Amino acid sequence: MAFAEELLAWGRRQGRRGMPWQETTDGRLNVYWVWVSEVMLQQTQVQTVNDFFLAFVRRFPNRTSLARASVDEVLAAWSGLGYYRRARNLHAAACQLELSYSPNEWPGTREAWQALPGLGRSTAAAIVASCFNQREAILDGNVKRVLARQVCAEPPWGSAALERLLWIEAQARLPKQPAAMPLYTQSLMDLGATVCLPKRPDCLRCPVRSTCKAFETGSSHEFPRPKPAKPRPVRQTRWLVVIRRDRSTGELTLGMRQQPEQGVWAGLWSFPVMDSNAPMPQGWSQWESFHHDFSHFRLAVSLWMPQTNLNRPGELSAQDAVAWAPDDLLMTFKTIPDWLEQGIPSPVRQTLLRLTQALKA
Ligand code: SF4
Repeated sequence: MAFAEELLAWGRRQGRRGMPWQETTDGRLNVYWVWVSEVMLQQTQVQTVNDFFLAFVRRFPNRTSLARASVDEVLAAWSGLGYYRRARNLHAAACQLELSYSPNEWPGTREAWQALPGLGRSTAAAIVASCFNQREAILDGNVKRVLARQVCAEPPWGSAALERLLWIEAQARLPKQPAAMPLYTQSLMDLGATVCLPKRPDCLRCPVRSTCKAFETGSSHEFPRPKPAKPRPVRQTRWLVVIRRDRSTGELTLGMRQQPEQGVWAGLWSFPVMDSNAPMPQGWSQWESFHHDFSHFRLAVSLWMPQTNLNRPGELSAQDAVAWAPDDLLMTFKTIPDWLEQGIPSPVRQTLLRLTQALKA
């Protein structure tokens, strides 16, 4: 059996059922419900959409009531689903449809749906395939994964070449009979969501393993090919390490500053920073350097101390730590154990631990 027949047979037996937007009247799906559910499912898991969907369509039972509501009312009903641009687009599309169609009339082609705000090719295809039996292919993230494994697609994830190849594969696999399109479309989504999983595809339970090249070659885990890792941009920074010794007690304290309320370390305590392009004032020496990786960039940190804090380059001696701090750095001074109890980012914590070791040496 070919891909479509095997998938349809599996879908009849084991496809996911019971989602409210799958309900039919006289064998027909509710177009408004399918449209709203497809938009909700764009970036949200089925389980979460299940919890929100009925409340939303009770609040806006049809396209006209959605179009007549204010954007604020629609956003309030969307609250908790996230990605609020979807709600704005849904409302704008309802307004456009109300102007162009009578209340029970809908666009009949994938292209007409795709022209509405917030609807890409795959979502538009899912609506016309499910509601109007049109032979239009879907290609959401789950389906891409299934097809990339079916053909052992070499282009990496996210590439235009992969997209082109998979649209051709998706269209070529459609069932011949238009009447099979609703079940086929739903079954393909179900397969990606429940069997051909990203990390552990359940190939032995898969209805389309006979056509799957990745299964045949035992390489399911190698596809889709990952996106090539982009080199992270490097941001240089200089942290200033200023240690004071209390002349009467001999206690050493370290100066830190609280970070502004915006930024990656908002509100946390860290070393005062000096612009890495500015010339370093005389009397400062570099103590050490390290880097810390964020998801989008690498922070290259060099740590600088007043020379009087340094015994020899690279080493710190408690005896040499002296009272020193420029007023304009607005630091708060505490002992290192006290700082370790405060809200501090992980690389600052690691630096404090190394500094503790250096001070003991
Ligand atoms: S056989 Fe395995 S890898 Fe191939 S489509 Fe099925 S679950 Fe995915």
